[in-house]
Amino acid sequence: MKLFDSHAHLDDTSYLKDWNDVLDRAKNAGVHAVMLVGITEKNSEHLIRMAEDNPMFRCSVGIHPHDAASADQRAIDHLKSLAVKHPVVKAWGETGLDFARMHSPRPDQERWFERQMDAAAELSLPLIFHERDSGGRFLDMVRHHARNRDLKGVVHCFSGSTAELSAYLDLGLYIGITGILTVKARGEELRKQVLHIPENRLVVETDAPYLTPSPERNKHKRNEPAFVRTTLLKLAEVRGDDPDCLADHVWNNTLNLYGMMA
Ligand SMILES: [Zn+2]
Ligand SMILES: [Zn+2]
Repeated sequence: MKLFDSHAHLDDTSYLKDWNDVLDRAKNAGVHAVMLVGITEKNSEHLIRMAEDNPMFRCSVGIHPHDAASADQRAIDHLKSLAVKHPVVKAWGETGLDFARMHSPRPDQERWFERQMDAAAELSLPLIFHERDSGGRFLDMVRHHARNRDLKGVVHCFSGSTAELSAYLDLGLYIGITGILTVKARGEELRKQVLHIPENRLVVETDAPYLTPSPERNKHKRNEPAFVRTTLLKLAEVRGDDPDCLADHVWNNTLNLYGMMA
């Protein structure tokens, strides 16, 4: 089984103490590739170095909605120039709207979300979207953007409604499934919704170090790429798919999403 963890934050300092073990466990679980996802200008620079050091990694550059208040046009322009210069950069994000925690004011989130969608379009990079509790505003903005631009991207850690899911699918987006799928109460809704996602739009992710799947949670507080296997197996079980067959689809979907077809 060949797995691609389509979204992880492995620059988190919690990996420093056992970094080589984390990579060994990932390889033993069949994880052949990991997308390292940018959240700030500074961390995006760091991810480029990590990805250039290890062929297992690719990375994105971008500014998370939580950090939108600290964004400016100089930072966006800098990230654009890095993306042009470094072929390991395969996506833009994560960007979007998060009105659940409101770490940045709404006008800042909206302004820098729009500018980042423009930046990705200018570079022809797929987008990694983050959406939490935006009450339809995220969808409005993405639809507006898609009216005069080609849109390619993934709604990572999907947690929306059935109506939002079908709108995302209509827009041609991929849907990122995390370990929440394995969590008893919190994953209940998601386990129903994954039945409605075509197999050519599914990708799996850890969002590590966050969102550790249930089976691993007793032993490990921190999530890591190896555990994406648990999510893939659960996805196959819930959908009644053959796990190896689903894994093949999901692998190819992720290569398509990130423009990595050989
Ligand atoms: Zn996110
Ligand atoms: Zn993330």
